[in-house]
Amino acid sequence: MYTMTKHYIDGAFVESHGTEVMDIIKPTNGRVIGRVTLADEEDTKHAIAAAKSAFVSFGRSSKEERTKIVRRLHEAASARLDDLTAAMVEEYGGVVQFAGLIVKSGINAFLAAEQALQELPLTRSWGKTTVTLEPVGVAGLITAWNANALFLCLKLASAVAAGCTVVIKPSELSAIQTQVLIEALHEANLPKGLLNVVTGRGNIVGAELVRNPDVAKISFTGSVGVGKSIMRDGAETMKRVTLELGGKSPTILLDDAVLDQAIPSALVMAFMNSGQACAAGTRLLVPKSRFDQVKRAIVEAMAAFPVGDPADPKTAVGPMVSQKQYEQVQSYIRKGIEEGAEVLVGGEGHPQGFEAGYFVKPTVFVNVKNDMTIAREEIFGPVLSVVSYDSEDEAIRIANASDYGLHAAVLGTDVERARRVAAQIRSGRVVINNMTDDPQAPWGGFKYSGVGREYGRFGIEAFLETRAILE
Ligand code: NAD
Repeated sequence: MYTMTKHYIDGAFVESHGTEVMDIIKPTNGRVIGRVTLADEEDTKHAIAAAKSAFVSFGRSSKEERTKIVRRLHEAASARLDDLTAAMVEEYGGVVQFAGLIVKSGINAFLAAEQALQELPLTRSWGKTTVTLEPVGVAGLITAWNANALFLCLKLASAVAAGCTVVIKPSELSAIQTQVLIEALHEANLPKGLLNVVTGRGNIVGAELVRNPDVAKISFTGSVGVGKSIMRDGAETMKRVTLELGGKSPTILLDDAVLDQAIPSALVMAFMNSGQACAAGTRLLVPKSRFDQVKRAIVEAMAAFPVGDPADPKTAVGPMVSQKQYEQVQSYIRKGIEEGAEVLVGGEGHPQGFEAGYFVKPTVFVNVKNDMTIAREEIFGPVLSVVSYDSEDEAIRIANASDYGLHAAVLGTDVERARRVAAQIRSGRVVINNMTDDPQAPWGGFKYSGVGREYGRFGIEAFLETRAILE
Protein backbone atom coordinates (compact mmCIF):
# COMPACT_ATOMS: atom_id res chain seq x y z
CA MET A 1 0.00 0.00 0.00
CA TYR A 2 1.46 3.36 -1.04
CA THR A 3 0.92 6.37 1.19
CA MET A 4 1.94 9.77 -0.11
CA THR A 5 1.46 12.83 2.04
CA LYS A 6 4.23 15.13 0.81
CA HIS A 7 4.86 17.55 -2.01
CA TYR A 8 8.22 18.60 -3.40
CA ILE A 9 8.84 22.27 -2.65
CA ASP A 10 12.06 24.27 -2.49
CA GLY A 11 14.27 21.20 -2.78
CA ALA A 12 12.58 19.13 -0.06
CA PHE A 13 9.67 16.76 0.48
CA VAL A 14 7.22 18.71 2.68
CA GLU A 15 3.98 17.63 4.36
CA SER A 16 0.83 18.60 2.50
CA HIS A 17 -1.16 21.56 3.75
CA GLY A 18 -4.10 20.22 1.76
CA THR A 19 -6.02 17.50 3.58
CA GLU A 20 -8.11 15.73 0.91
CA VAL A 21 -7.04 12.09 0.66
CA MET A 22 -7.64 10.28 -2.63
CA ASP A 23 -7.54 6.53 -3.27
CA ILE A 24 -5.25 5.22 -5.98
CA ILE A 25 -6.93 2.37 -7.83
CA LYS A 26 -5.15 -0.33 -9.80
CA PRO A 27 -6.72 -0.44 -13.27
CA THR A 28 -6.30 -4.19 -13.75
CA ASN A 29 -8.54 -5.11 -10.81
CA GLY A 30 -10.15 -1.96 -9.39
CA ARG A 31 -8.47 -2.42 -5.99
CA VAL A 32 -7.10 0.39 -3.85
CA ILE A 33 -3.30 0.26 -3.89
CA GLY A 34 -2.49 3.59 -2.30
CA ARG A 35 -3.61 6.90 -0.91
CA VAL A 36 -2.38 10.35 -1.79
CA THR A 37 -2.96 13.56 0.13
CA LEU A 38 -3.77 16.24 -2.40
CA ALA A 39 -2.27 19.71 -2.45
CA ASP A 40 -4.40 22.81 -1.93
CA GLU A 41 -3.98 26.50 -2.89
CA GLU A 42 -1.60 27.09 0.02
CA ASP A 43 0.76 24.34 -1.11
CA THR A 44 0.60 25.73 -4.64
CA LYS A 45 1.35 29.29 -3.53
CA HIS A 46 4.25 27.98 -1.44
CA ALA A 47 5.64 26.16 -4.50
CA ILE A 48 5.21 29.25 -6.71
CA ALA A 49 7.02 31.41 -4.14
CA ALA A 50 9.93 28.95 -4.09
CA ALA A 51 10.13 28.95 -7.89
CA LYS A 52 9.92 32.74 -7.97
CA SER A 53 12.77 33.14 -5.54
CA ALA A 54 14.91 30.54 -7.38
CA PHE A 55 14.30 32.37 -10.65
CA VAL A 56 16.22 35.41 -9.38
CA SER A 57 19.51 33.59 -9.89
CA PHE A 58 18.57 30.71 -12.22
CA GLY A 59 16.95 33.14 -14.65
CA ARG A 60 20.42 34.59 -15.19
CA SER A 61 22.23 31.24 -15.53
CA SER A 62 24.57 30.63 -18.43
CA LYS A 63 24.12 28.04 -21.14
CA GLU A 64 26.90 25.99 -19.52
CA GLU A 65 25.14 25.94 -16.13
CA ARG A 66 21.85 24.87 -17.68
CA THR A 67 23.64 22.22 -19.72
CA LYS A 68 25.16 20.74 -16.56
CA ILE A 69 21.76 20.69 -14.90
CA VAL A 70 19.93 18.91 -17.75
CA ARG A 71 22.77 16.38 -17.83
CA ARG A 72 22.40 15.74 -14.11
CA LEU A 73 18.65 15.38 -14.55
CA HIS A 74 19.28 12.83 -17.30
CA GLU A 75 21.61 10.79 -15.10
CA ALA A 76 19.25 10.94 -12.15
CA ALA A 77 16.20 9.83 -14.15
CA SER A 78 18.16 7.12 -16.01
CA ALA A 79 19.09 5.50 -12.70
CA ARG A 80 15.41 4.73 -12.06
CA LEU A 81 14.30 3.66 -15.56
CA ASP A 82 13.02 0.26 -14.41
CA ASP A 83 11.20 1.67 -11.37
CA LEU A 84 9.56 4.35 -13.51
CA THR A 85 8.40 1.74 -16.01
CA ALA A 86 7.09 -0.53 -13.26
CA ALA A 87 5.12 2.36 -11.73
CA MET A 88 3.54 3.17 -15.10
CA VAL A 89 2.49 -0.46 -15.49
CA GLU A 90 1.06 -0.73 -11.98
CA GLU A 91 -0.67 2.60 -11.45
CA TYR A 92 -1.74 3.45 -15.00
CA GLY A 93 -1.98 -0.04 -16.52
CA GLY A 94 0.44 0.85 -19.33
CA VAL A 95 1.56 -2.22 -21.29
CA VAL A 96 5.13 -2.89 -20.29
CA GLN A 97 6.69 -2.73 -23.75
CA PHE A 98 5.16 0.62 -24.53
CA ALA A 99 5.62 1.97 -20.99
CA GLY A 100 9.36 1.27 -21.28
CA LEU A 101 9.50 3.28 -24.52
CA ILE A 102 7.54 6.16 -23.05
CA VAL A 103 9.76 6.36 -19.98
CA LYS A 104 12.88 6.16 -22.14
CA SER A 105 11.70 8.94 -24.39
CA GLY A 106 11.04 11.06 -21.28
CA ILE A 107 14.55 10.42 -19.99
CA ASN A 108 16.02 11.11 -23.45
CA ALA A 109 14.22 14.46 -23.51
CA PHE A 110 16.95 15.77 -21.20
CA LEU A 111 19.64 14.78 -23.71
CA ALA A 112 17.61 16.17 -26.59
CA ALA A 113 17.20 19.47 -24.73
CA GLU A 114 20.94 19.58 -24.08
CA GLN A 115 21.66 19.11 -27.78
CA ALA A 116 19.05 21.65 -28.83
CA LEU A 117 20.39 24.20 -26.36
CA GLN A 118 23.88 23.92 -27.87
CA GLU A 119 22.42 24.63 -31.30
CA LEU A 120 20.27 27.55 -30.21
CA PRO A 121 22.01 30.93 -30.32
CA LEU A 122 20.80 32.84 -27.26
CA THR A 123 22.34 36.11 -28.45
CA ARG A 124 22.32 37.73 -31.87
CA SER A 125 23.65 41.15 -32.68
CA TRP A 126 24.00 43.46 -35.65
CA GLY A 127 25.06 47.08 -35.85
CA LYS A 128 24.29 48.57 -32.47
CA THR A 129 21.50 46.13 -31.69
CA THR A 130 21.78 43.04 -29.46
CA VAL A 131 18.94 40.58 -29.16
CA THR A 132 18.95 38.01 -26.35
CA LEU A 133 16.57 35.16 -25.64
CA GLU A 134 15.47 35.44 -22.03
CA PRO A 135 13.66 32.87 -19.88
CA VAL A 136 10.02 33.84 -19.56
CA GLY A 137 9.92 33.35 -15.75
CA VAL A 138 8.22 30.83 -13.48
CA ALA A 139 6.51 28.14 -15.56
CA GLY A 140 3.49 26.09 -14.47
CA LEU A 141 3.55 22.63 -16.07
CA ILE A 142 0.17 20.89 -16.02
CA THR A 143 -0.07 17.37 -17.41
CA ALA A 144 -2.34 14.44 -18.29
CA TRP A 145 -2.18 10.86 -16.97
CA ASN A 146 -1.39 8.82 -20.08
CA ALA A 147 2.40 9.32 -20.27
CA ASN A 148 3.30 10.93 -16.97
CA ALA A 149 7.09 10.50 -16.99
CA LEU A 150 7.35 11.67 -20.60
CA PHE A 151 5.30 14.84 -20.06
CA LEU A 152 7.07 15.77 -16.83
CA CYS A 153 10.60 15.17 -18.16
CA LEU A 154 9.93 16.80 -21.53
CA LYS A 155 8.45 19.98 -20.11
CA LEU A 156 11.02 20.18 -17.32
CA ALA A 157 13.93 19.66 -19.76
CA SER A 158 12.73 22.44 -22.08
CA ALA A 159 11.95 24.87 -19.25
CA VAL A 160 15.29 24.34 -17.49
CA ALA A 161 17.22 24.62 -20.77
CA ALA A 162 15.51 27.98 -21.25
CA GLY A 163 16.42 29.12 -17.72
CA CYS A 164 12.93 28.90 -16.19
CA THR A 165 12.06 27.55 -12.76
CA VAL A 166 8.97 25.37 -12.56
CA VAL A 167 5.96 24.25 -10.59
CA ILE A 168 4.64 20.94 -11.89
CA LYS A 169 1.00 19.90 -11.43
CA PRO A 170 0.87 16.29 -12.60
CA SER A 171 -2.39 14.45 -13.04
CA GLU A 172 -3.79 13.31 -9.72
CA LEU A 173 -4.07 9.85 -11.35
CA SER A 174 -0.26 9.64 -11.59
CA ALA A 175 0.74 10.16 -7.96
CA ILE A 176 2.85 7.01 -7.60
CA GLN A 177 4.63 7.54 -10.92
CA THR A 178 5.32 11.15 -9.96
CA GLN A 179 6.67 10.14 -6.57
CA VAL A 180 9.19 7.73 -8.17
CA LEU A 181 10.26 10.37 -10.69
CA ILE A 182 10.69 13.13 -8.13
CA GLU A 183 12.68 10.88 -5.80
CA ALA A 184 14.93 10.20 -8.80
CA LEU A 185 15.26 13.85 -9.81
CA HIS A 186 15.97 14.90 -6.22
CA GLU A 187 19.30 13.10 -6.63
CA ALA A 188 20.28 15.58 -9.35
CA ASN A 189 21.02 18.10 -6.60
CA LEU A 190 19.25 20.97 -8.29
CA PRO A 191 19.36 24.53 -7.01
CA LYS A 192 16.59 24.80 -4.41
CA GLY A 193 13.27 25.96 -5.80
CA LEU A 194 14.13 25.22 -9.43
CA LEU A 195 11.80 22.20 -9.42
CA ASN A 196 8.60 22.09 -7.38
CA VAL A 197 5.86 19.48 -7.66
CA VAL A 198 2.35 19.68 -6.23
CA THR A 199 -0.04 16.83 -6.93
CA GLY A 200 -3.62 17.93 -6.60
CA ARG A 201 -6.87 18.60 -8.39
CA GLY A 202 -6.99 20.62 -11.59
CA ASN A 203 -9.66 23.00 -10.35
CA ILE A 204 -7.61 23.73 -7.21
CA VAL A 205 -3.86 23.44 -7.91
CA GLY A 206 -4.11 23.90 -11.69
CA ALA A 207 -6.46 26.86 -11.32
CA GLU A 208 -4.10 28.56 -8.84
CA LEU A 209 -1.19 28.21 -11.27
CA VAL A 210 -3.29 29.68 -14.08
CA ARG A 211 -4.50 32.58 -11.94
CA ASN A 212 -1.31 33.42 -10.00
CA PRO A 213 0.43 36.57 -11.29
CA ASP A 214 3.86 35.18 -10.35
CA VAL A 215 3.50 32.41 -12.95
CA ALA A 216 4.50 33.71 -16.38
CA LYS A 217 3.83 30.66 -18.51
CA ILE A 218 1.61 27.59 -18.55
CA SER A 219 2.65 24.56 -20.54
CA PHE A 220 -0.32 22.21 -20.56
CA THR A 221 -1.00 18.72 -21.88
CA GLY A 222 -4.58 17.58 -21.61
CA SER A 223 -8.07 17.96 -22.98
CA VAL A 224 -9.44 20.68 -25.26
CA GLY A 225 -11.98 21.79 -22.64
CA VAL A 226 -9.37 22.46 -19.95
CA GLY A 227 -7.01 23.93 -22.58
CA LYS A 228 -9.67 26.51 -23.50
CA SER A 229 -10.23 27.42 -19.86
CA ILE A 230 -6.47 27.91 -19.35
CA MET A 231 -6.30 30.24 -22.35
CA ARG A 232 -9.34 32.17 -21.16
CA ASP A 233 -8.43 32.41 -17.45
CA GLY A 234 -4.72 32.90 -18.16
CA ALA A 235 -5.53 36.02 -20.20
CA GLU A 236 -6.22 37.89 -16.95
CA THR A 237 -2.51 37.74 -16.03
CA MET A 238 -1.30 37.71 -19.66
CA LYS A 239 0.00 34.14 -19.41
CA ARG A 240 2.05 32.73 -22.23
CA VAL A 241 0.51 29.34 -23.03
CA THR A 242 1.53 26.17 -24.78
CA LEU A 243 -1.41 23.80 -25.16
CA GLU A 244 -0.95 20.17 -26.23
CA LEU A 245 -4.49 18.93 -26.64
CA GLY A 246 -6.40 16.12 -28.28
CA GLY A 247 -6.40 14.45 -31.66
CA LYS A 248 -8.41 12.36 -34.11
CA SER A 249 -5.49 11.39 -36.25
CA PRO A 250 -6.02 10.08 -39.78
CA THR A 251 -4.00 7.23 -41.25
CA ILE A 252 -4.25 7.37 -45.04
CA LEU A 253 -3.71 3.99 -46.64
CA LEU A 254 -2.85 4.66 -50.29
CA ASP A 255 -3.94 2.21 -52.97
CA ASP A 256 -0.37 0.99 -53.56
CA ALA A 257 0.17 0.01 -49.91
CA VAL A 258 1.30 -3.55 -49.14
CA LEU A 259 -1.35 -4.68 -46.69
CA ASP A 260 0.84 -7.18 -44.83
CA GLN A 261 2.91 -4.24 -43.63
CA ALA A 262 0.45 -1.38 -43.77
CA ILE A 263 -2.35 -2.92 -41.70
CA PRO A 264 -0.19 -3.97 -38.71
CA SER A 265 1.37 -0.52 -38.87
CA ALA A 266 -2.07 1.16 -38.89
CA LEU A 267 -3.20 -0.98 -35.94
CA VAL A 268 -0.08 -0.13 -33.93
CA MET A 269 -0.91 3.54 -34.44
CA ALA A 270 -4.53 2.99 -33.44
CA PHE A 271 -3.90 0.87 -30.35
CA MET A 272 -0.61 2.26 -28.99
CA ASN A 273 -0.77 3.00 -25.29
CA SER A 274 -4.04 1.01 -25.30
CA GLY A 275 -5.56 3.75 -27.45
CA GLN A 276 -5.05 6.32 -24.68
CA ALA A 277 -2.74 8.38 -26.85
CA CYS A 278 -3.30 11.87 -28.18
CA ALA A 279 -1.52 10.86 -31.40
CA ALA A 280 -3.43 7.57 -31.85
CA GLY A 281 -4.34 6.99 -35.50
CA THR A 282 -8.02 6.43 -34.88
CA ARG A 283 -9.34 7.10 -38.39
CA LEU A 284 -8.10 4.70 -41.05
CA LEU A 285 -8.87 5.98 -44.55
CA VAL A 286 -8.86 3.21 -47.16
CA PRO A 287 -9.50 3.17 -50.92
CA LYS A 288 -12.96 1.76 -51.77
CA SER A 289 -11.33 -0.55 -54.31
CA ARG A 290 -9.43 -2.37 -51.54
CA PHE A 291 -12.05 -2.23 -48.80
CA ASP A 292 -12.77 -5.99 -48.63
CA GLN A 293 -9.09 -6.89 -48.66
CA VAL A 294 -8.46 -4.37 -45.89
CA LYS A 295 -11.26 -5.84 -43.77
CA ARG A 296 -9.77 -9.34 -44.09
CA ALA A 297 -6.27 -8.05 -43.34
CA ILE A 298 -7.49 -6.27 -40.19
CA VAL A 299 -9.25 -9.37 -38.83
CA GLU A 300 -6.09 -11.42 -39.44
CA ALA A 301 -3.72 -8.84 -37.97
CA MET A 302 -5.78 -8.48 -34.77
CA ALA A 303 -4.22 -11.70 -33.47
CA ALA A 304 -1.10 -9.64 -32.77
CA PHE A 305 -3.02 -7.28 -30.46
CA PRO A 306 -4.01 -9.37 -27.46
CA VAL A 307 -5.63 -7.76 -24.43
CA GLY A 308 -4.17 -8.75 -21.10
CA ASP A 309 -2.06 -8.13 -18.06
CA PRO A 310 -0.01 -5.04 -18.87
CA ALA A 311 2.99 -6.53 -17.05
CA ASP A 312 3.09 -9.40 -19.58
CA PRO A 313 5.44 -8.48 -22.46
CA LYS A 314 3.10 -10.27 -24.92
CA THR A 315 0.19 -7.95 -24.12
CA ALA A 316 -0.57 -5.22 -26.66
CA VAL A 317 -3.66 -3.63 -25.07
CA GLY A 318 -4.03 -3.11 -21.32
CA PRO A 319 -6.87 -1.70 -19.24
CA MET A 320 -8.18 1.87 -19.40
CA VAL A 321 -6.85 4.09 -16.63
CA SER A 322 -10.10 4.43 -14.67
CA GLN A 323 -13.76 3.45 -14.46
CA LYS A 324 -14.62 6.85 -15.97
CA GLN A 325 -12.39 6.18 -18.97
CA TYR A 326 -13.83 2.66 -19.32
CA GLU A 327 -17.33 4.10 -19.42
CA GLN A 328 -16.33 6.79 -21.90
CA VAL A 329 -15.01 4.16 -24.31
CA GLN A 330 -18.15 2.02 -23.86
CA SER A 331 -20.40 4.98 -24.57
CA TYR A 332 -18.58 5.72 -27.83
CA ILE A 333 -18.80 2.08 -28.93
CA ARG A 334 -22.57 2.21 -28.28
CA LYS A 335 -22.82 5.50 -30.15
CA GLY A 336 -20.97 4.02 -33.14
CA ILE A 337 -23.46 1.14 -33.30
CA GLU A 338 -26.46 3.49 -32.90
CA GLU A 339 -25.22 5.73 -35.71
CA GLY A 340 -25.00 2.77 -38.08
CA ALA A 341 -21.32 1.85 -38.18
CA GLU A 342 -20.57 -1.88 -38.34
CA VAL A 343 -18.46 -3.62 -35.69
CA LEU A 344 -15.80 -5.66 -37.50
CA VAL A 345 -13.86 -6.60 -34.36
CA GLY A 346 -14.57 -6.13 -30.64
CA GLY A 347 -17.67 -4.29 -29.42
CA GLU A 348 -19.20 -3.42 -26.09
CA GLY A 349 -18.28 -4.86 -22.68
CA HIS A 350 -15.26 -6.47 -21.11
CA PRO A 351 -13.15 -8.93 -23.09
CA GLN A 352 -13.72 -12.52 -21.97
CA GLY A 353 -11.60 -13.41 -18.95
CA PHE A 354 -11.02 -9.74 -18.04
CA GLU A 355 -14.23 -8.87 -16.25
CA ALA A 356 -12.44 -7.22 -13.32
CA GLY A 357 -10.73 -3.87 -13.85
CA TYR A 358 -11.13 -1.49 -16.74
CA PHE A 359 -10.37 -3.68 -19.75
CA VAL A 360 -12.20 -2.98 -23.00
CA LYS A 361 -12.28 -4.86 -26.29
CA PRO A 362 -10.03 -3.39 -28.97
CA THR A 363 -12.69 -2.43 -31.49
CA VAL A 364 -12.65 -1.74 -35.21
CA PHE A 365 -15.67 -0.14 -36.89
CA VAL A 366 -16.12 -0.28 -40.66
CA ASN A 367 -18.61 1.57 -42.87
CA VAL A 368 -17.93 4.69 -40.85
CA LYS A 369 -18.83 8.08 -42.30
CA ASN A 370 -16.44 10.86 -41.38
CA ASP A 371 -19.27 12.91 -39.88
CA MET A 372 -20.26 10.20 -37.38
CA THR A 373 -19.47 10.91 -33.73
CA ILE A 374 -16.88 8.11 -33.57
CA ALA A 375 -14.96 9.70 -36.46
CA ARG A 376 -15.19 13.23 -35.11
CA GLU A 377 -14.61 12.99 -31.36
CA GLU A 378 -11.58 11.80 -29.47
CA ILE A 379 -12.46 8.50 -27.74
CA PHE A 380 -9.11 7.97 -26.00
CA GLY A 381 -9.39 4.19 -26.08
CA PRO A 382 -8.64 1.35 -28.53
CA VAL A 383 -11.38 2.13 -31.04
CA LEU A 384 -10.56 2.47 -34.74
CA SER A 385 -12.93 3.87 -37.35
CA VAL A 386 -12.40 2.76 -40.96
CA VAL A 387 -13.64 5.27 -43.54
CA SER A 388 -13.48 4.60 -47.28
CA TYR A 389 -12.55 7.05 -50.04
CA ASP A 390 -12.68 7.17 -53.85
CA SER A 391 -9.61 9.21 -54.80
CA GLU A 392 -6.39 10.56 -53.31
CA ASP A 393 -7.92 14.05 -53.23
CA GLU A 394 -10.91 12.76 -51.33
CA ALA A 395 -8.62 11.00 -48.84
CA ILE A 396 -6.81 14.27 -48.17
CA ARG A 397 -10.10 16.12 -47.83
CA ILE A 398 -11.45 13.58 -45.31
CA ALA A 399 -8.16 13.57 -43.37
CA ASN A 400 -8.38 17.34 -43.02
CA ALA A 401 -12.12 17.37 -42.27
CA SER A 402 -11.54 17.30 -38.51
CA ASP A 403 -11.43 19.83 -35.71
CA TYR A 404 -8.09 18.31 -34.78
CA GLY A 405 -4.68 18.38 -36.43
CA LEU A 406 -2.09 16.81 -34.14
CA HIS A 407 -0.73 13.77 -35.96
CA ALA A 408 -1.29 11.83 -39.17
CA ALA A 409 0.19 8.93 -41.13
CA VAL A 410 0.47 8.06 -44.80
CA LEU A 411 1.04 4.43 -45.80
CA GLY A 412 2.10 3.56 -49.34
CA THR A 413 4.81 2.03 -51.49
CA ASP A 414 5.63 5.04 -53.66
CA VAL A 415 7.37 7.22 -51.07
CA GLU A 416 7.43 10.32 -53.31
CA ARG A 417 3.67 10.11 -53.60
CA ALA A 418 3.31 9.52 -49.84
CA ARG A 419 5.38 12.68 -49.23
CA ARG A 420 3.19 14.64 -51.63
CA VAL A 421 0.10 13.54 -49.73
CA ALA A 422 1.77 14.20 -46.34
CA ALA A 423 2.51 17.77 -47.41
CA GLN A 424 -1.22 18.43 -47.77
CA ILE A 425 -2.25 17.25 -44.30
CA ARG A 426 -3.01 19.99 -41.79
CA SER A 427 -1.35 18.36 -38.77
CA GLY A 428 1.65 19.18 -36.62
CA ARG A 429 3.29 15.88 -37.53
CA VAL A 430 2.84 13.41 -40.36
CA VAL A 431 4.68 10.07 -40.34
CA ILE A 432 5.25 8.00 -43.45
CA ASN A 433 4.75 4.22 -43.30
CA ASN A 434 5.45 3.74 -39.57
CA MET A 435 5.01 5.32 -36.19
CA THR A 436 8.30 7.03 -35.66
CA ASP A 437 9.72 9.82 -33.52
CA ASP A 438 12.48 12.42 -33.57
CA PRO A 439 13.06 14.29 -30.32
CA GLN A 440 14.27 17.35 -32.26
CA ALA A 441 11.16 17.51 -34.46
CA PRO A 442 8.35 19.75 -33.20
CA TRP A 443 5.30 18.22 -31.55
CA GLY A 444 1.99 20.04 -31.36
CA GLY A 445 -1.21 20.70 -33.15
CA PHE A 446 -3.06 22.67 -35.77
CA LYS A 447 -6.62 23.75 -34.96
CA TYR A 448 -8.15 22.36 -31.72
CA SER A 449 -5.11 20.16 -31.12
CA GLY A 450 -3.44 23.08 -29.47
CA VAL A 451 -1.21 26.11 -29.52
CA GLY A 452 2.59 26.07 -29.75
CA ARG A 453 5.11 23.26 -30.05
CA GLU A 454 7.23 21.08 -27.81
CA TYR A 455 10.41 19.00 -28.35
CA GLY A 456 13.96 20.11 -29.13
CA ARG A 457 14.62 23.70 -30.07
CA PHE A 458 10.93 24.45 -30.60
CA GLY A 459 10.17 23.31 -27.06
CA ILE A 460 12.88 25.50 -25.54
CA GLU A 461 11.78 28.53 -27.56
CA ALA A 462 8.34 28.19 -26.00
CA PHE A 463 9.89 29.20 -22.64
CA LEU A 464 11.82 32.20 -24.01
CA GLU A 465 11.14 35.87 -24.68
CA THR A 466 13.29 38.10 -26.89
CA ARG A 467 14.86 41.26 -25.55
CA ALA A 468 16.56 43.77 -27.84
CA ILE A 469 19.07 46.28 -26.53
CA LEU A 470 19.73 49.19 -28.89
CA GLU A 471 22.49 51.73 -28.44
P1 NAD B 1 -7.62 16.85 -18.54
O1 NAD B 1 -7.67 18.04 -19.42
O2 NAD B 1 -8.81 16.42 -17.82
O3 NAD B 1 -6.49 17.06 -17.43
C1 NAD B 1 -5.17 17.43 -17.74
C2 NAD B 1 -4.55 18.12 -16.55
O4 NAD B 1 -5.23 19.35 -16.33
C3 NAD B 1 -4.67 17.32 -15.25
O5 NAD B 1 -3.50 17.49 -14.51
C4 NAD B 1 -5.85 18.00 -14.57
O6 NAD B 1 -5.85 17.85 -13.18
C5 NAD B 1 -5.63 19.45 -14.98
N1 NAD B 1 -6.81 20.31 -14.90
C6 NAD B 1 -8.12 19.94 -14.88
N2 NAD B 1 -8.90 21.03 -14.74
C7 NAD B 1 -8.09 22.11 -14.68
C8 NAD B 1 -8.31 23.51 -14.55
N3 NAD B 1 -9.53 24.01 -14.46
N4 NAD B 1 -7.24 24.33 -14.52
C9 NAD B 1 -6.00 23.84 -14.64
N5 NAD B 1 -5.72 22.53 -14.75
C10 NAD B 1 -6.76 21.66 -14.77
O7 NAD B 1 -7.02 15.68 -19.46
P2 NAD B 1 -6.73 14.17 -19.05
O8 NAD B 1 -8.04 13.48 -18.91
O9 NAD B 1 -5.78 14.15 -17.91
O10 NAD B 1 -5.95 13.64 -20.33
C11 NAD B 1 -6.57 13.26 -21.51
C12 NAD B 1 -6.52 14.36 -22.55
O11 NAD B 1 -5.17 14.80 -22.73
C13 NAD B 1 -6.97 13.91 -23.91
O12 NAD B 1 -7.84 14.85 -24.48
C14 NAD B 1 -5.69 13.84 -24.73
O13 NAD B 1 -5.83 13.99 -26.09
C15 NAD B 1 -4.87 14.91 -24.14
N6 NAD B 1 -3.44 14.65 -24.39
C16 NAD B 1 -2.76 15.44 -25.30
C17 NAD B 1 -1.43 15.18 -25.58
C18 NAD B 1 -0.65 16.02 -26.58
O14 NAD B 1 0.59 15.98 -26.56
N7 NAD B 1 -1.28 16.75 -27.46
C19 NAD B 1 -0.79 14.13 -24.95
C20 NAD B 1 -1.51 13.35 -24.05
C21 NAD B 1 -2.82 13.63 -23.76
